[in-house]
Amino acid sequence: MSLTQEIKDFALDLGYHDVGVTSADAFPWYAEALGARDSSFDFLIEGPLKPIEGSDPRSVMPEAKSIICTVYDYSREGFPAELAGRIGRMYQSRASNQSSNRTNGARRQLFVDYLEKRGIKTMFGPAFNVPERLASARAGVTTYGRNNFAYANGSGSFNVLLAFTVDAELEYGTPTVEAPCPKDCRLCVDACPTGALEPFRLEPRKCIAYNTFMTQENFRPHTTSHIPPEIRQKMGTWIHGCDVCQEACPRNQPRLKAMETWPTSSFLNRFAEQFDLRKMLLLTDEYFERVLRPVMYNYIGHKRYFQRNAAIALGNSGDRSHVPYVAQALEDSDSLVRGYAAWGLGRLGGQDARTALEKARSVETGEKASQEIEAALAA
Ligand code: SF4
Ligand code: SF4
Repeated sequence: MSLTQEIKDFALDLGYHDVGVTSADAFPWYAEALGARDSSFDFLIEGPLKPIEGSDPRSVMPEAKSIICTVYDYSREGFPAELAGRIGRMYQSRASNQSSNRTNGARRQLFVDYLEKRGIKTMFGPAFNVPERLASARAGVTTYGRNNFAYANGSGSFNVLLAFTVDAELEYGTPTVEAPCPKDCRLCVDACPTGALEPFRLEPRKCIAYNTFMTQENFRPHTTSHIPPEIRQKMGTWIHGCDVCQEACPRNQPRLKAMETWPTSSFLNRFAEQFDLRKMLLLTDEYFERVLRPVMYNYIGHKRYFQRNAAIALGNSGDRSHVPYVAQALEDSDSLVRGYAAWGLGRLGGQDARTALEKARSVETGEKASQEIEAALAA
């Protein structure tokens, strides 16, 4: 058996859905495309993932020969209905970027350990990140959708890709850098609530997913905590991620239908039972650490951003029974939370919300929170 096949067999045995190999040659088109859109992707280009370096793996690892591309299918179980429209399935699955003392991080570590035992030098983030969707399509294990997601056989776009750059000369797959979407299909583009999507082109700062977790002060270069009001209104009740453009896709319908019939895990059922937007808004350290962090561990590190997202989601819910809880958040010690609670109350409307806002107006000391209160009262 060839070394390439042995490596693939080991990866499949670890639970990866598919695995392919491409050369470590550069992806010049990727660097050019990012550079042409640097005002949209400045947070990525200048951030820790170093995508420009990753577009030419040998610039960081001169001995690189191959890139092993693994595809992890995170949709092998059902997802609780209570979390639909709130948390993206990928985050519910805990499949992305986990630490090595949890299942998906341990799988990644086992694969690296295996390669190293075979005498193969391996690199993957954080030194640099190769463009994983492009690499896996060049390796022949995924194709593209016009929504920019990577599609794999059988699992649709519900995949997490991981690329391992190695110094071993391996056998390369036949590229599938193509988008086998039905002719003229634009269902993903038309479904996007914020107009963030054009075929093969995403405007990240309009994307709900970006706004739920990248909008944190100094999280990445050029990121702030501010979510524009016109985006807030369109976020619905999403608090971490967004699945709309994947759910609209005909190429995903077989897997979505299958997921509806599959059982949900005890872990997710228990999380869903405890998940409560009101508790997220009036967030205690205990609820943050015990309930939220084990599932949504990978982007939001400070509880204030969960509180902000909950204020937006409750505001967008249209359910005025939430007003007393959102009003309570006007007394939070964090002015960011108070400001977004004001927005949520303005969005919910009604006399009780107005009364709470008028009371807060007289005591608010934060400049931005005061502006949010005035805007909510003027709405
Ligand atoms: S994830 Fe949501 S907001 Fe972002 S492009 Fe897709 S549908 Fe639009
Ligand atoms: S919705 Fe249509 S255009 Fe968009 S990715 Fe799916 S098949 Fe392609």
